Amino acid sequence: MNLMRKLEILADAAKYDVACTSSGSDRGAVKGKLGATQAAGCCHSFTADGRCISLLKVLMTNVCAYDCAYCASRRSNEVERATFKPRELADLTIEFYRRNYIEGLFLSSGVLGTPDYTTELMVETFRILRDEYGFRGYIHAKVVPGASPELIDQMGRLVDRLSVNLELPSQDSLALLAPQKTRQHILAPMRQIADSIAESRESRVLAKRKSVFYRGGIQRAATRHPFSPAGQSTQMIVGATPESDYQILSLSAALYRTMSLRRVFFSAYLPVNDDARLPKTDAVQLNREHRLYQADWLMRFYRFDASELLDEANPFLDPTIDPKANWALNHLELFPVEVNTAPYEALMRVPGIGVVGAQSIMRARKTATIRESHLRKLGIAYKRARYFITCNGQYAGAGVAMTRDALRPLLAAPINGGRHGRRADTVLPNQLSLFGEGETFASPAPATKSLPGGFPGQAAVHHVARREPPVAWSLS
Ligand code: SF4
Repeated sequence: MNLMRKLEILADAAKYDVACTSSGSDRGAVKGKLGATQAAGCCHSFTADGRCISLLKVLMTNVCAYDCAYCASRRSNEVERATFKPRELADLTIEFYRRNYIEGLFLSSGVLGTPDYTTELMVETFRILRDEYGFRGYIHAKVVPGASPELIDQMGRLVDRLSVNLELPSQDSLALLAPQKTRQHILAPMRQIADSIAESRESRVLAKRKSVFYRGGIQRAATRHPFSPAGQSTQMIVGATPESDYQILSLSAALYRTMSLRRVFFSAYLPVNDDARLPKTDAVQLNREHRLYQADWLMRFYRFDASELLDEANPFLDPTIDPKANWALNHLELFPVEVNTAPYEALMRVPGIGVVGAQSIMRARKTATIRESHLRKLGIAYKRARYFITCNGQYAGAGVAMTRDALRPLLAAPINGGRHGRRADTVLPNQLSLFGEGETFASPAPATKSLPGGFPGQAAVHHVARREPPVAWSLS
């Protein structure tokens, strides 16, 4: 089989993996070496369905000894199989990098023989790239479930980010749909990676402080190559099993807390196999995926707790309104807030005011009294925010009753109609393909502890840290 055919098969097989954003590594260019990464992330090119493709995203092999019900590459499917040799893949990566097709490599794999053998192939690929070709670009690798700790350690010192797919939101679902993968295969490497990242960071900080004298001057204490400097992430399939959004978000919060994850990716279940264990539907829940990402964003950057967004009685996110606006409508007793005096935490809870907007308001009001015109200049989405704020005592949502029924139609933002919505509830047979037609290669209880003014603030973060996920995954 020629190399282009292999690439076609293995890039196509990798399209189902969504965990590929690459922010987090910052490494400048060095003379005689190839490539660099920026902390802002090198994945700034996205396909129409919102998934990035500026990394060469391939599988090492689509041969697999496992038989996960949802996977196109599973053992029992009759599909064309291919496997890269490490040097072939390293050469391809370098050639594409030089042509400016890609800015890094995202490598996952089926299980070829054993997890260790597969991981050895991946490690060898990274070694060639880093040591022989001096490649300093971004590399994100998926850990093969069941790989030995020694190999994971080697891999972590060659790549920028590691991820271990959680696959499904509960242990029961994992046992049903991916019986060869066990909780131990997934959580043990996650824990190892979290510990190694922390240890690596600590030793580098110490090494920076600790210098040793030698005859010619001062030299920094030696350190090993940093372990997965851009952190770790994971991915869950949403919609293949009956877990609710509340369970999924609670589990995500627990993973951020206990495994120091950078990201949890949600992948709407895409039906590719006919299997009695899978839901009988052709619909892809992209709208649900979208709302989960919004809620995840609120937890990571807006100090929301999963239990503030959802609960056992209302376990699913509303598809017709974004989670932050929905939270505000459920807590109208906390509004309006006065932009000139409200605490930072309260500003961040206002629909239309983001993290940057809240910071701008905090800075600006040190020197001036903020009025409506200032808010517009500060980049606040005033049309949304005006129903929830006062500016110097003036309420700007004049004429609209401050009730849920009156405000909801003004804030509702159904995803239908946008690019995302057009594809909602449809089957996407060809998402994320590197190859266009005719081309060979195209370029606990809710957080109620409140700050003055009644807003859940940093106390909510502490509160998250004490909660246990109400799902079957036990993370200890
Ligand atoms: S381990 Fe499971 S999900 Fe991964 S390639 Fe094999 S069958 Fe697919």
